[in-house]
Amino acid sequence: MSEPNAIYDAAIIGGGLGGLTLAIQLAKQSRKVILFEKEKYPFHKVCGEYISNESWDYLISCGIHLDKMNLPKISKLGITASNGFYLSHNLDLGGFGISRFTMDNLLVEEAKKLGVEVHENCKVSQVNFSANSFEIQSSIGITKSYYAFGSFGKKSNLDIQLNRDFTKEKKRGSSNFIAVKYHIKKTFNSELIELHNFKDGYCGISQIDEDKLCLCYLTSEQNLKNHNNNIKEMEAEVLGKNPYLKKIFTEATFLYGQPLTISQIRFEPKSQLENHLVLLGDAAGLIAPLCGNGMSMAMRASSIIAKILPKDLESEKDRLIFEKEYQKIWKENFILRLSIGRIFQRLFGSDRITFWALKLLKQFPTLLSNLIGLTHGKKF
Ligand SMILES: Cc1cc2nc3c(=O)[nH]c(=O)nc-3n(C[C@H](O)[C@H](O)[C@H](O)COP(=O)(O)OP(=O)(O)OC[C@H]3O[C@@H](n4cnc5c(N)ncnc54)[C@H](O)[C@@H]3O)c2cc1C
Repeated sequence: MSEPNAIYDAAIIGGGLGGLTLAIQLAKQSRKVILFEKEKYPFHKVCGEYISNESWDYLISCGIHLDKMNLPKISKLGITASNGFYLSHNLDLGGFGISRFTMDNLLVEEAKKLGVEVHENCKVSQVNFSANSFEIQSSIGITKSYYAFGSFGKKSNLDIQLNRDFTKEKKRGSSNFIAVKYHIKKTFNSELIELHNFKDGYCGISQIDEDKLCLCYLTSEQNLKNHNNNIKEMEAEVLGKNPYLKKIFTEATFLYGQPLTISQIRFEPKSQLENHLVLLGDAAGLIAPLCGNGMSMAMRASSIIAKILPKDLESEKDRLIFEKEYQKIWKENFILRLSIGRIFQRLFGSDRITFWALKLLKQFPTLLSNLIGLTHGKKF
């Protein structure tokens, strides 16, 4: 339980990569931090589990000894069209593979060691700001804090409670996506990440820790509806048309009984601030997984916050300066990446457009390098 009359420096809602790395960095500044996570660690998450190398140094600064973990280093990209056309390319910056089960758990252990008060199985139901501080309602009661950060991911009950603009827009089947993830075993080049397109979706595959592979795909809700909401049927009839995916689904050993799934994924722009609640990671803007770098973007936002958070948390003037500064830096860092992500999202998954786009890019490898470069940030 949190101390009855304590007021925390920072309350962090959501313990994914954005929230956990922020908690660690603020604890290292000797701030008093409380973090709420609705699930219990360790747990699996739908994610492609490829982390761009831009975050390598930052994760080490968060106390994660990546260099000692013998993780797969990924430096090559293969993309296929659903007719089997294959385009390969080097990834200049590259990345590494690690499951969210392992990664988030390592981070939460580090946060606890640094004195962060972590509440697991603890869902926040309301966040209110008044008299220059926050009241956060959760299953442990009401918690007070000077600052509050929303790192609650792509979809949360809090989006509705906060009445966020994107929740009011009419939902159309075609713009809602679902994602499905498996861990599998199969022979695969550990330096490679592959993206296989199929009608109305794409599927990533790359190696993670423990010699497993992460196989994760995104597709429209409509695609699933067209196949009686039956994942196996959709996989056989739609994904299976791509010969590479057919081979993977036929030859691999699937390690879960059931796949992990999420629905109602949307890519509309979001705000970075809601009534003084500062948002980061997917809660501030979700990038198409095709661009593969949402985790690094969440961590980069946490590093920005940790650098510019005022020393005097009681100053109303400093709060306003901080909020303005954060929104400015956020836009400088992410607006272009998110826009490129949305363009890629539209290009991929459409049988013919993807095929012709890949054919064109095969002729112009420099253009492909530049496009990939736009989806990756510099190290931080
Ligand atoms: C199909 C797919 C594949 C992807 N592949 C990749 C990839 O390969 N590489 C990459 O870099 N990115 C990938 N991404 C994106 C990446 O998963 C996200 O960008 C990243 O997880 C964002 O981190 P986050 O901290 O913002 O949110 P999350 O990691 O989602 O964490 C949010 C946390 O908040 C918790 N929460 C929510 N509401 C509440 C509440 N009310 N109270 C308490 N806790 C709450 C949730 O349980 C969750 O643990 C992919 C995304 C998808 C959909």
